[in-house]
Amino acid sequence: MKKAIIIIAVTLTAVFLLLFGMWELMNARSFQVFGGLIDQVETEEKVVALTFDDGPTHKTDEILKVLADADVKATFFLNGNMIEKNPEAAEDIVQAGHEVGNHTYSHERMIFKSYSFIEEEIEMTDKLIRDAGYVGDIHFRPPNGKKLFLLPYYLKEHDRKTIMWNIEPDSYPEIAGDAGQIVKHVNENVKPGSIILLHVMYDYEERESLESVVRIIETLKEEGYSINTVSELLEYR
Ligand SMILES: [Zn+2]
Repeated sequence: MKKAIIIIAVTLTAVFLLLFGMWELMNARSFQVFGGLIDQVETEEKVVALTFDDGPTHKTDEILKVLADADVKATFFLNGNMIEKNPEAAEDIVQAGHEVGNHTYSHERMIFKSYSFIEEEIEMTDKLIRDAGYVGDIHFRPPNGKKLFLLPYYLKEHDRKTIMWNIEPDSYPEIAGDAGQIVKHVNENVKPGSIILLHVMYDYEERESLESVVRIIETLKEEGYSINTVSELLEYR
């Protein structure tokens, strides 16, 4: 009887540790099982990348105007299904000279999915990005940053870079609702090689993020930072 209890306890502990390990792995910002994952670049130069996830939406012109006025090139991780709905917005991003990355077709989390599902999600989106006129390397960013085994395996097999981020102000509810807080969070956490993530193309909840962009750019420039695309930032490694 005593032995049975010990066996059950050991088994439960093992299952717990396994689940905990998988959860950590799925959410890790700077590690994955296969291939490289980049959440920041090791450099002493004051260079950063500004990245915008999801979309494109009918709000794309607003962020493009902000970037044009500030003369900044950013990187947009787009979803295939949104490019299909807003093909002109995707073309506008390309025409304006920004970098475009692949953020899957559906924005579903790429965990507990088949290899063929993952493949289709990424390749359909690549094609839509090319159809929008984009010619550069297409880096990949997983929806919600989630990945386990098959996604990293696919990316490694196809020699694709996984681009994460190390500053994400609008992921914290207490910060996301206020442009001033977003700017402050970026200022307090930025360092050479940082990759900043913002969501700026939705209707309501991301309003403050969009409003923060002008001031983020201003304050970064005041601090002597230059703002680059992800591919340019990678050159500093
Ligand atoms: Zn996303």
